[in-house]
Amino acid sequence: MEFLPLFTQLTGKPCLLLGGGQVALRKARLLSKAGAKIRVVARDVLPELAALAEQSGGEVRVGEFDEADLGQVFLVIAATDDHALNQHVSEACHQRLLPVNVVDSPELCSVILPAIVDRSPLVIAISSGGKSPVLARMMRSRLESSIPASYGRLANLASRFRDAVKAKFGDIEDRRLFWERVLQGPIAEMVFAGKDAVADQMLAKEIDQAGPQVGGEVYLIGAGPGDPDLMTFKALRLLQKADVVLYDRLVAPEIVEMCRKDAERVFVGKKRSDHAVPQDGINQLLIDYARQGKKVARLKGGDPFIFGRGGEEIEQLALQHIPFQVVPGVTAAAGCASYSGIPLTHRDYAQSVRFVTGHLKDNSINLPWAELVHSHQTVVFYMGLVGLPSICDQLIAHGRSPDTPIALIQQGTTPNQKVVVGTLSNMVAKIAADPVQAPTLIIVGEVVQLRSKLAWYEDRDLAQPQL
Ligand code: SAH
Repeated sequence: MEFLPLFTQLTGKPCLLLGGGQVALRKARLLSKAGAKIRVVARDVLPELAALAEQSGGEVRVGEFDEADLGQVFLVIAATDDHALNQHVSEACHQRLLPVNVVDSPELCSVILPAIVDRSPLVIAISSGGKSPVLARMMRSRLESSIPASYGRLANLASRFRDAVKAKFGDIEDRRLFWERVLQGPIAEMVFAGKDAVADQMLAKEIDQAGPQVGGEVYLIGAGPGDPDLMTFKALRLLQKADVVLYDRLVAPEIVEMCRKDAERVFVGKKRSDHAVPQDGINQLLIDYARQGKKVARLKGGDPFIFGRGGEEIEQLALQHIPFQVVPGVTAAAGCASYSGIPLTHRDYAQSVRFVTGHLKDNSINLPWAELVHSHQTVVFYMGLVGLPSICDQLIAHGRSPDTPIALIQQGTTPNQKVVVGTLSNMVAKIAADPVQAPTLIIVGEVVQLRSKLAWYEDRDLAQPQL
């Protein structure tokens, strides 16, 4: 590192500015923002610059630079277009160990002025060490557009409560965890919404009621059915915060790839009846990682609360007082339906839709069949491939017409999506002739017919990158 960034307190300190033109004026504006007393020495001085120097409590001397000007100043900025003079000033300052900045000549500088993103009291300084000011300015533009203006007010909020938090938490680590939570949580959102007074009240209450701090946190994230574009912004934001990511077979590899490069990735299963890590083990892992102070993302296929056992995982977290957030996801039924052109409801064909599990228990499926055979209802079976023969038989046995349309969607929303359409009476034979691969979703009901009208084009189930 050629230059160590330091933030300098200039209030009331005399600073020498050599040069009286536009460049010097720009530097004078900066110095004046920082409260410095500006002494200008130049052959010619712009009136605006002279006024700024006087307002700052400094002065202007019209004439040639003299080494005596270097006495009793804290910082020197040379902004003249006279290279020989700039060089002379730089050497004189180096001899006296006086910090000097020469505009546009990094080799003559002992200090450089960075590009600044000003969200006072939060200030971000960017420097390329004088190698490429344009690059530094580009970085600044990026930060300018991504850091809300209200961050300065957030820093002021922290400053107002700094002593109170210090008094509450003797331990420095507890203080860090407390502030991390506050600055990323609902109190910060209040500041962003311009409600500083409410944020103050909330923070005062939070300090009052805060118990021992737990650094870890768990995000139970619905990752959607496969296509990474179906993740929510919130899912992506929290995933990228995580130190550890737990995922299973249903989560697309491209989605796991979106986590931070330094995040630990843990595969936790599960294939049908082949649980790599049993559910209790997953619950325990979440607790253990969070207890180590880590931010843990638990990625779940689809939506965590739809046949996802998400409820069980957070029940344990709640019992252990571990903070958590649940992020909903696009469930397989919604994803497969839209990507295969089958609306789950339709004014003419289905006024309701039911999501049921076709998972076999003791070689049979326990479902209220009589309720599933109403004609104006769509029934979606999750985990139904193995039980398909039984599902078709039972629906027919309980009164649904053998001609009822049924669709089986393999790996919906992914490039491997495949849709097989048939009727309750011929679907089993169709699948035997044209095998499919898990995960698959089954949709039963008249709405399946609409696919022929609503699928955008016939072969859209074949590999389509954007599917
Ligand atoms: N929580 C998930 C469901 C988990 S149960 C969700 O909301 O989608 C697992 C079952 O979901 C699979 O057996 C399959 O029936 C269905 N499933 C998940 N992703 C799927 C996909 N991309 N295509 C078809 N079915 C899928």
